[in-house]
Amino acid sequence: MKSFLSLFERSSRATESTAPILFTNTLTSQKEVFSPYKAGIATLYSCGPTVYSRAQIGNLRAYIFSDIVARVLLQAGYHVRRVINITDVGHLVSDADEGEDKMSVGATREGKTAAEIADTYTRLFIEDLSALSVDTKSIRFPRATDYIPEQIALIELLEKGGHTYRTSDGIYFDTSTFQGYGAFAHGAHATTRESALADIGRRITNNKEKRSPADFALWRFSSQGSSRLQEWQSPWGRGFPGWHVECSAMSRALLGQPIDIHTGGIDHIPVHHTNEIAQSEAAYHTPLARYWLHQAFLTVDGTKVSKSLGNDLYLSDITEKGFHPLSLRYFFLQAHYSSSISFTWDAISASNEALHRLWKLADATRVLAKDRRTPSAQSRRLIALLRDNLNTAQALAKLWDIVKDDELSPSKVWDAIMLADEVLGLELVSDSRGTSEILPEDVVSMAKERDTARQNQDFASADQLRIHIENRGYRVDDGPSGTVVTRVGH
Ligand code: AMP
Ligand code: ZN
Repeated sequence: MKSFLSLFERSSRATESTAPILFTNTLTSQKEVFSPYKAGIATLYSCGPTVYSRAQIGNLRAYIFSDIVARVLLQAGYHVRRVINITDVGHLVSDADEGEDKMSVGATREGKTAAEIADTYTRLFIEDLSALSVDTKSIRFPRATDYIPEQIALIELLEKGGHTYRTSDGIYFDTSTFQGYGAFAHGAHATTRESALADIGRRITNNKEKRSPADFALWRFSSQGSSRLQEWQSPWGRGFPGWHVECSAMSRALLGQPIDIHTGGIDHIPVHHTNEIAQSEAAYHTPLARYWLHQAFLTVDGTKVSKSLGNDLYLSDITEKGFHPLSLRYFFLQAHYSSSISFTWDAISASNEALHRLWKLADATRVLAKDRRTPSAQSRRLIALLRDNLNTAQALAKLWDIVKDDELSPSKVWDAIMLADEVLGLELVSDSRGTSEILPEDVVSMAKERDTARQNQDFASADQLRIHIENRGYRVDDGPSGTVVTRVGH
């Protein structure tokens, strides 16, 4: 009841927007109006991290992006049911489904069990997300190892449907049995369906028993005579699930099928998501998801962020240099999610500075507006930009125009700031930042008197008022919308 009330209270005060929510759907390569399967509810599944090491800032871009998707929907009044899975088994080092399991690599590296490694890096991942203003309490983070029976059930169904075959090392999905395999990648990347299929056919594989290089493991057997760190009994013998299976099984178990929105990085289009679609749709004869959204990559010095290249960076590297964690969020929001973005320390420093300036202006506006909000065409435009395929870059630029606009009343500026913050999540309105405070009434009225004096070119009175305010322990600055008062020491 509380959440309905707060939603009602929020929308009754704020600018109402009728702009439709538009997403560019990888499935169709078209910008489409969002329309959920169930009225008022949006289900959102984001492929999560493999928790064998700390999430680098490129990974974090994926979850800031899906957070913006969730916030746009929340702001529009949807109830959002959200899942980010935790991959703690089955993700092999090579994309061709070969090599060691990444969790075993992590466990050997640190001399710990796979479960300990998973615990540590899941906790650090969720801590990073919280520091980046992602509301982690509203997200479910299921672990693949907690959904082994669901994964086995899915493979059994695929087996019954004639979509699998057995080799000496596992049970494989036979991609030739799924009509339209690879069509997904065709929409996003390739110029023709033939070239998409040719790309998939060129996948490198050392496994001579696979009928096609595109076929992928659903279940891998433990090697004869040796036991693995992570293995389970199954109808096919001891072993562990293939990586792609977990997303098909967990999204269905937790959100149903079809879900509304599935997100991930563009690297997932040709293999991971193509395979998720094949499994889920072959097993249940219904789409896996209606809207597929993919974010582009973060690069450092023009190359992909990767441990092996030694250019991997973590949120802690940013905060250790004294930058606020949200400066990374601000940095990402300056670009459209579908464009790749290049990390530089100068860019983070500039984002940090811009964010602090925005906070100052937001605090000052709040004082002048006395927390009053007046809807405006400017606020509506800002929300329309965010609903138009998550145009955070233009929305941020628009927000700066609004806060610098002398013609707009403080209550209109405040309305825009509050609305922007619901979606951008930059803590523009947060009291927890500790920089905004409710000023004493006499200080507020002196600030207003000073604005009037300045408007009337009565600079002697304005100076007098400045001294009075300063004597009460506050600092006085001239902001774009008038006097800005902050307590000395903040
Ligand atoms: P992984 O743990 O490799 O499965 O990656 C988790 C998420 O991070 C996926 O959605 C990837 O697409 C995404 N990702 C990994 N590296 C980057 C990067 N450099 N830039 C943007 N997204 C990335
Ligand atoms: Zn996935």
